[in-house]
Amino acid sequence: LGRRLNSALQSVSASSTIDEQALDAVLKTVCSALLESDVNVLLVKRTRERVKRQVLPQLEEIQHKQGTDHDAMAGNKAKQLIHKAIFDELVALVDPGDDAPPAFNPVKGKTQVIMMVGLQGAGKTTTCTKLATHYQRRGLKVALVCADTFRAGAFDQLKQNATRAKVPFFGSYTETDPVSISLQGVNKFRAERFDVIIVDTSGRHRQESELFDEMCQIQDAVEPDMTVLVLDGAIGQAAEAQSEAFKEASNFGAIIVTKLDGHAKGGGAISAVAATHTPIIFIGTGEHLHDLEKFAPRPFISKMLGMGDMQGLVERAQEMAMANPERQENMMKKLEKGEFTVRDLKEQMQTIMNMGPLSNLTSMIPGMSGLMGGDTEAEASKRMKRIAFIFDSMTTAELDSDGSVFRDPPKAPKADKGKGKGKPNARVLRVARGSGTSVEEVEQLLAQHQMFSKMAKRMGGKNGMCLAQRGAG
Ligand code: GDP
Ligand code: MG
Repeated sequence: LGRRLNSALQSVSASSTIDEQALDAVLKTVCSALLESDVNVLLVKRTRERVKRQVLPQLEEIQHKQGTDHDAMAGNKAKQLIHKAIFDELVALVDPGDDAPPAFNPVKGKTQVIMMVGLQGAGKTTTCTKLATHYQRRGLKVALVCADTFRAGAFDQLKQNATRAKVPFFGSYTETDPVSISLQGVNKFRAERFDVIIVDTSGRHRQESELFDEMCQIQDAVEPDMTVLVLDGAIGQAAEAQSEAFKEASNFGAIIVTKLDGHAKGGGAISAVAATHTPIIFIGTGEHLHDLEKFAPRPFISKMLGMGDMQGLVERAQEMAMANPERQENMMKKLEKGEFTVRDLKEQMQTIMNMGPLSNLTSMIPGMSGLMGGDTEAEASKRMKRIAFIFDSMTTAELDSDGSVFRDPPKAPKADKGKGKGKPNARVLRVARGSGTSVEEVEQLLAQHQMFSKMAKRMGGKNGMCLAQRGAG
């Protein structure tokens, strides 16, 4: 989704006219990507209309001013406008708004019962222990109750998880009435003055009436302070109907979406919130005990779109540009002339580095994530340090060059092909040695520079240079 959105936006900033047609084209790409991510069809339609209604008048204004305004700036402005509108709309979808129940925050010193509901396989039992661990780490006394008498082995599973996490638990191999078990367990831990008691229930395969009956009976018996719907993040378009059915039967007050690790799309989660006006409180991101993350709308959408916090980024970029307007202006002027030196790349990268978490930022700039990014923040920052070493090992003349000094003049073709790459350029070798990096790393950086410099040349500074545009805010 992120990649498609970015390339769609890229085409906006590169096109000479920014009109309704261009906007429609972007929205079409974004919407089909959203649908593929399993966001509910009607929600997608609504989002599209809202973004359009919001952006179109502003686009027209930009278009109107384009005669006097800088072309690249106009394209960039339009791009940011659309990006932000889409981001904000999506955030609004997972943000249930002010009329939603307040966030549930168990406190020390009184007993609060949490009941987990959801279909079999959604991740209830796993999430129970994760949640218990989370509250334990915050200093609360937490216990688990297994009310799943439906599935053989359910108690064993909870027992194993709880033992591993060192959480007290209650359950039975013989008792078959889930209402009786949950009541026994809750009463026991209540008497022992536990702060949080989490009741795990059964799920079964389908939303049958017995399941809902059982759920309501347990609810009536243990009177939970919070009922939590555990939703499988991978169920896709079924999320809406499922969460609505559970909402009606249990009136849950919070959602936990599981399995949002790996390739899960997350669109189902959005649909569930929108359908039930209930906040997501956590997301499950793996099978292990600590794979539970507090949910926050903005980072969630950022991740889904494969980008950083858009608004935060734009604001930061504007701040940076304001802090150093001459430099950005110089950059624009140079780009207009089609110039882009090695030093320009160094400065742009430094700007990005100063802007914050790398993994977020680099994903927004084509070609950058491969160079500056990494799987983790630590990895990315390590790579960035190495890049800084590389620049530091270059001479002033090299930095101010167009990079061609790092490439050997073309030789007459020799008979021995087959060998692939020849010897590295002497300067490249020197820089690699001097910076303690490898020839490949230096070459990769130079290739990136060459790519940008080609773009700058081709566009004559108009639209291709997304780095500088971003900096210019
Ligand atoms: P329940 O039937 O609702 O109690 O579901 P379980 O807790 O037994 O989980 C069903 C399966 O989903 C198990 O194999 C879990 O390991 C797996 N699971 C649960 N949460 C997550 C998650 O966040 N990520 C991944 N990858 N797997 C999960
Ligand atoms: Mg279970």
